[in-house]
Amino acid sequence: MNAAPADQIRLLDLQAIDSRLDQLAHRRRSLPEHAEIDKAAADHGALKSLVVAAEAQLGDTTRELTKAEQDVEQVVSRSARNQQRLDSGAITSPKDLENLQHEVGSLAKRQSDLEDVVLEIMERMESSQTRVTELGARLEHSTVTLSEAEARRDAAFAEIDADAEKVRRDREAVAVVIPADLLKLYTRLREQQGGVGAARLYQRRCEGCRVEFAVSDLNAIKAEPKDAVVRCDNCGRILVRTAESGV
Ligand SMILES: [Zn+2]
Repeated sequence: MNAAPADQIRLLDLQAIDSRLDQLAHRRRSLPEHAEIDKAAADHGALKSLVVAAEAQLGDTTRELTKAEQDVEQVVSRSARNQQRLDSGAITSPKDLENLQHEVGSLAKRQSDLEDVVLEIMERMESSQTRVTELGARLEHSTVTLSEAEARRDAAFAEIDADAEKVRRDREAVAVVIPADLLKLYTRLREQQGGVGAARLYQRRCEGCRVEFAVSDLNAIKAEPKDAVVRCDNCGRILVRTAESGV
């Protein structure tokens, strides 16, 4: 393949631009915010599950309390009815009177037991409520952490993308003047050779693979016409001769 020396040198400019674009893409992929966001999102998800569980527990405890309070109310009203009957003097049979007094006694004991249950449930409800409040605050904090990390990532994206946009415009201006067959070869080599398709010959070395050429190889390169597209024997990249190449 042949190409004007100036076009071959433009290929080095294009290579520098493409390497810059690769660097920007790499920076975009490896922002520390990606790991931060993953961690914050995992924390947020875990906290959300804990909040849901704590709220469910609080709901259960609240229903338990309502039920226990109803139990107390029933006993209280039954005691009141019994007391009314005692006070009314309608019960005259000593046996009935004794039974009723006995029931009043057991209801008082039952009421006291049920009130203890109510207190115990209220304590549990209070700690349940505290847990819901604490977890809610932690969830809110984790939401802020997550959205702050996302905002930092998006700001970094915007900066990188704006840089890349400028570089891409430069690329278009350079690429448009390079002959199509040379550009095609460069593109293929770039894909095969880890992003570098064209390298300068400098101080007897291929700057793509850093191999140093023997004098005989160098002489062979020197013997090539200026518009020949030379390839590195070692890496296969397009080897561009410039004024500093010494050949
Ligand atoms: Zn090479």
